[in-house]
Amino acid sequence: MQQPLLEVATRPVPASVHQKMVTDYWNHGTGWCCEEFRDLLPESTLNQITSIQVYPEAGIQDEIFWGKTSSGLFLIQTAIAMLWGDNSSDDRLIWKKIWKVEVPQKMRLLMWLVPQGVLMTNTNRVRRGMASKPECNMCPGLLEDTSHIFRTCERVREVWHYFEQANTGVHDPNLELKEWVLCNLTHMTNDTTWPMKFTVALWWLWRWRNEACLGRISNIPGSLKLSTPVDIAIESDTKVPRKEGETKIE
Ligand SMILES: [Zn+2]
Repeated sequence: MQQPLLEVATRPVPASVHQKMVTDYWNHGTGWCCEEFRDLLPESTLNQITSIQVYPEAGIQDEIFWGKTSSGLFLIQTAIAMLWGDNSSDDRLIWKKIWKVEVPQKMRLLMWLVPQGVLMTNTNRVRRGMASKPECNMCPGLLEDTSHIFRTCERVREVWHYFEQANTGVHDPNLELKEWVLCNLTHMTNDTTWPMKFTVALWWLWRWRNEACLGRISNIPGSLKLSTPVDIAIESDTKVPRKEGETKIE
């Protein structure tokens, strides 16, 4: 906390409180006595305070305490749960599905970010003052948001059309982005390896889009053929897989 608590108080603080010590609000068995100061401080400050563990015993220094676990130790699961929020069962389901897909961690991470809409698309870049044009570089006049990059961009539609023709995957344009991801991770297809292929496909689409933005390729390749196994595509993401019959990009 950068400011004295008195400066962030939401109402005048009684003089009797001014001389109180931190340990006056700490119970060794139950932790912070929040009820005694809850009405004096904003929620964000209360959250900061309750995330700190107090050691009243002499000779022990204060330390940062992760308030989302009872032990005070940081666990990535709790951080993820905090980011997803507590109310979205769909989000938790997507997260579970993603972790079952046998792909490198970075592909899972991308898959996690897609339905959140937090990737640095041109519309998000404009929102953050990092760019001036929210349009897709390949589709003049059309905004580039997450859905556009992975579903509706002209060349991307050719990729999904290929799979649709092969009766693989879920391509219903009426589905929301999150529903689309969830359906494709949930084996709602005749191909049990589809969740893995779907994840790999999204990874490549994102890479191609970035390469196109940087001017390293003129456009996203028009068609993507994935057949089992896709392990070759997963082994290396630094080059286009070339083995015939495994993963072919034309
Ligand atoms: Zn586009």
